[in-house]
Amino acid sequence: MTLALNIDTRAWRANIKSVQDSFPGLVPVAKGNGYGFGLEALAREAARMNEDCIAVGIAEEVAVVRAAGWSRDVVVLNPWRPFDAAATALLEEPGVITTVSRLEDLDALVRQYPRARVLVELRTSMNRHGLTLEEVVAVDTGTLGFEGWAIHLPPTGALAEAQTLASTGVAHQRGAVWVSHLDATHYAKLRTHLGGSTRMRIGTKLWMGDASTYSATGSVLDLHRVSRGTRFGYHNGKVTRDGWLAVVSGGTAHGIALAAPKKLKSLRDRVNATAEWALDEVGRQVSPFRIGKKKASFAEPPHMHASMLFLPGADPGVQVGDEVPVTCRMTTTTFDELRWN
Ligand SMILES: *Cc1c(COP(=O)(O)O)cnc(C)c1O
Repeated sequence: MTLALNIDTRAWRANIKSVQDSFPGLVPVAKGNGYGFGLEALAREAARMNEDCIAVGIAEEVAVVRAAGWSRDVVVLNPWRPFDAAATALLEEPGVITTVSRLEDLDALVRQYPRARVLVELRTSMNRHGLTLEEVVAVDTGTLGFEGWAIHLPPTGALAEAQTLASTGVAHQRGAVWVSHLDATHYAKLRTHLGGSTRMRIGTKLWMGDASTYSATGSVLDLHRVSRGTRFGYHNGKVTRDGWLAVVSGGTAHGIALAAPKKLKSLRDRVNATAEWALDEVGRQVSPFRIGKKKASFAEPPHMHASMLFLPGADPGVQVGDEVPVTCRMTTTTFDELRWN
């Protein structure tokens, strides 16, 4: 009764290998829901790849990759803040590298945790975290273990921007340059330009780079013949045509959701989008479950672990027990089962 992720393990690893070969200094990123594969599986995979360092998003994720057996360095990508107790608790762990993105935070660490290992983050055009170029002159890492400069570029990674930031940082204090989101060509150019040590943090391209190597499926749990006017569901809606209600595994707990309308052009579209659920729209919201050649319609919004679909006509095209393909957004889906085929 599960939402499953089916992985062609050999093919999945072939993509990982090709990314690893194209990016010397790779740091696999294992954060959040583990890009659908789970943090534990990614930590084990990084060990299998024989990498020396893994990146997690937040301090709380360090214990998860450790429990999965990862024993080498872990860099925490989200920058440290004095009010982050979990991150502060890791400052004296020799295997953890903390990202620092404000001068006052750097000063606090120099004074209170003089042996912490740190990366100093520079502000990119993302404008998320990091020191501005003007602030670099004020960087004093004292007795901290300085691991280098972190540069988080937007996904359309700009080489020129990376070069300017990296050069400014390295000119002030020598160290490795840790980047994100450069393509292989630009990364190679940056390495040549800098000459020093570079690290490349990659998640999406590494784990999800070849979507043909994994697929999600739900199971048909129940099937009911219904006629026009039959009431059903939490919303006590009525079906508008004769057909079938199919109950399939996969609901809100897994991250299965109603799709937002792509473009809200007319006032009517906007009204429909804001209405909680329009009963006269039953059977008209496209679900991510494919039955036959088409995406089936939701009969009503997804439930916690299952979804009700409406299949018009005399033949539902599926039976109880069938597995049906589901289009899932990997970074927001929690699967019940991972099948490493
Ligand atoms: C998440 C993250 C990455 C990895 O991004 P992907 O697009 O998944 O490769 C790299 N760097 C930083 C700072 C991040 O937060």
